[in-house]
Amino acid sequence: MTLSITSIPSPVSQVTKKLKDAGFESYLVGGCVRDLFIGRTPKDWDITTNATPEQIIAIFPDSFYENTFGTVGVKTESEDPTLKVIEITPYRLESEYTDKRRPDAVEWSKTLDHDLKRRDFTVNAIAIDERDGKLDIIDLFHGQEDLENKVIRTVGDPHLRFSEDALRIMRAIRLSVELGFHVEHETEVAIKTHAKLLGHISKERIRDEFSKIILSPHPEDGISFMRNTGILPFVIPELEEGFGMEQNQAHSYDVWTHTLKTVQHSADKQFPFEIRLAALLHDIGKPRTRRFSRETNQYTFYGHEVVGAKMANEILERLKFPRKTIEIVTKLVRWHMFFSDPEAITLSAVRRMVVNVGKEHIWDLMNVRNCDRIGTGRPKENPYRLRKYKSMIDEALRDPITVGMLKIDGKDIMEALKDRPGPKIGLILNALMEEVLDNPAKNTREWLLERTHELAQEDEATLKKQAAIGKDKKDQAEEAELKKIRGKHKVQ
Ligand code: ATP
Ligand code: MG
Repeated sequence: MTLSITSIPSPVSQVTKKLKDAGFESYLVGGCVRDLFIGRTPKDWDITTNATPEQIIAIFPDSFYENTFGTVGVKTESEDPTLKVIEITPYRLESEYTDKRRPDAVEWSKTLDHDLKRRDFTVNAIAIDERDGKLDIIDLFHGQEDLENKVIRTVGDPHLRFSEDALRIMRAIRLSVELGFHVEHETEVAIKTHAKLLGHISKERIRDEFSKIILSPHPEDGISFMRNTGILPFVIPELEEGFGMEQNQAHSYDVWTHTLKTVQHSADKQFPFEIRLAALLHDIGKPRTRRFSRETNQYTFYGHEVVGAKMANEILERLKFPRKTIEIVTKLVRWHMFFSDPEAITLSAVRRMVVNVGKEHIWDLMNVRNCDRIGTGRPKENPYRLRKYKSMIDEALRDPITVGMLKIDGKDIMEALKDRPGPKIGLILNALMEEVLDNPAKNTREWLLERTHELAQEDEATLKKQAAIGKDKKDQAEEAELKKIRGKHKVQ
């Protein structure tokens, strides 16, 4: 593997140099080194040193304690968000893990070897230092070789390492899908053996790794691996109910496979997190609602979106997702079936749907729907009905051209003219509409009120004529807008 010193940003080099000038050792380590080797942009920069937290703080007066692991954050001048704070952690030695979660005590060490040995995976346990213009690479566990072969392997005995800290199981899966690596055989065997230790890990920490799996380029592989290794029961056991669950003729796949294809498509499209979660959970209610219909000789899943929305809510609450995420995902699951009956779509049904999921999420719903369609394994290319639906959403979302667009209403006119309700008010509104359609700048309260008084002086025939022209113009403008929307979606 090749790596050049120039790939290390100068704010980082400045920090390591300062530590070394003060007489300490200083290495880049962990995720940033791994990412540099494979040409990914590091998310953050971690430095490890034989200085103690107090000694580090003495060298960087502006720095602050980041956590109980002795990590010190050094602020830099950099505008780059990944470089604003550089973390320095003293060499660590870890002792007993009695609760399978956290070391009982964090102890500092004087040697880099100890620090590398306590790290989770070989690819995360490489340290580098620039010395005399050359790179010094400390790779005690052959991490470079595993990077080359795209392998995730624990540092040391995987059974021991997963027993020490079961979160590493989730990290192994997460890293493999983020990087497109595979989990080495012994490491995989140990994951299977120790899967149940995940029961000791907090839901929040499981959620964070799980979220990264969903946001990775390969959620399908991650979830599939979680099932094969017995991890799924500790994350979303409900997903497993779909395994081998046959569907009706519209589907090539069982519920499980369809679900994986659907969430994978959401990743291929780089959709945001909520859409990906909804893609994963959209059919979660199917297994519990499946019935066999003798009439059609097929399975039915009536109400699976209602049951599914409830289940999605439970699942996401259990994993302690934020309320907002839960709300969005649950809504998307609840309404994902909304156009199962394409022949019967009406504009008012579409309007109701926009109200149900909310204007801000209607296109998310369309995206979930699209993933669902691709996930059946028999998708049609953007079929007519889908385009028609999108066109109707655009129609439902637009503000129609009506006298309601005017900055004054019938009540204002009656007040201005000290008049009572009657046909004259409507005539004036339409007449005003005629002028505003010609020149939208006229749509202000002042102008309209002034003009109202003038129009009120006109004789009835003149007023009627202008009102009729106004109504005509309005209808034409409406039609032109609808035509434009339909043209955009290539539908009638
Ligand atoms: P990312 O790119 O997501 O930041 P990362 O590998 O840097 O990935 P971090 O959580 O930032 O992950 O951890 C930094 C480093 O600390 C890791 O590379 C690894 O060496 C070590 N590490 C993190 N968590 C553990 C753990 N549970 N057990 C052992 N070592 C760990
Ligand atoms: Mg990191």
